[in-house]
Amino acid sequence: MYIVVFIFGSIVGSFLNVCIYRLPKGRSVIVPGSRCPNCTAAIHWYDNIPILSYIFLGGRARCCKAKISFRYFMVEILTASAFFMLFSVFGLTPKFFAYAAMVSGLIVATFVDFEIQEIPDEVSVGGLVIGLILAIVFPSILNETTRLNGFLNSFLGALTGGGMIYAMGVFGEFAFKKEAMGGGDVKLLAMIGAFIGWKLTILTFFLAPVFGSVVGITLKIKHGKDIIPYGPYLSLAAVCSIFFGAKILRILMYGFY
Ligand SMILES: [Zn+2]
Repeated sequence: MYIVVFIFGSIVGSFLNVCIYRLPKGRSVIVPGSRCPNCTAAIHWYDNIPILSYIFLGGRARCCKAKISFRYFMVEILTASAFFMLFSVFGLTPKFFAYAAMVSGLIVATFVDFEIQEIPDEVSVGGLVIGLILAIVFPSILNETTRLNGFLNSFLGALTGGGMIYAMGVFGEFAFKKEAMGGGDVKLLAMIGAFIGWKLTILTFFLAPVFGSVVGITLKIKHGKDIIPYGPYLSLAAVCSIFFGAKILRILMYGFY
């Protein structure tokens, strides 16, 4: 079963690569089939096997020998590993499928955000709607027992997430006289909130700057970079929250025991 989940994750990762490449260009992620970004030749199915093809081809396209971005390989491994870990913690439950969907969205958001400093609405707004629907259909995702409570927790999560980032942006603009948070970040934490509920969303909000500053400081030392996209850190914090959030909240409320 672990192997099946890993393979399933790598196939989803392969599709996420298509999203990362095509969404910023406003192109369909369904048609046409995979093409070489360099020479536009159609890619054979046997050169399009997640993870393995990259290794067999030695990171170069068969058609024109152009270098294949390492990102393709990374996203496939990352998605497969994430699904594997989610399965090992949550088993085949509604939580697994909901979190797998959320993490997939976060992976796309992260890589697109790094590249163009924007988060596609297909991911944030689309994910928000999916999160709300899943909470009504499977309230157990949010540890609720009724559909109404599932919806309320999810809705409140979206409101808390979007609201906190928005407030942070207003405060930042007031304090530093420049735009601090983009609308994409507001929508992204709203989407995360719809999947994980208001409690873990608050935790995510406070965890993100910790990751952000660690990576930000490293980037600054290396490249002197000033513009740091925030989506990747919200995403990383959200993933931490689904794996360790319950434990962290318990410690915060009752202390170590
Ligand atoms: Zn080619």
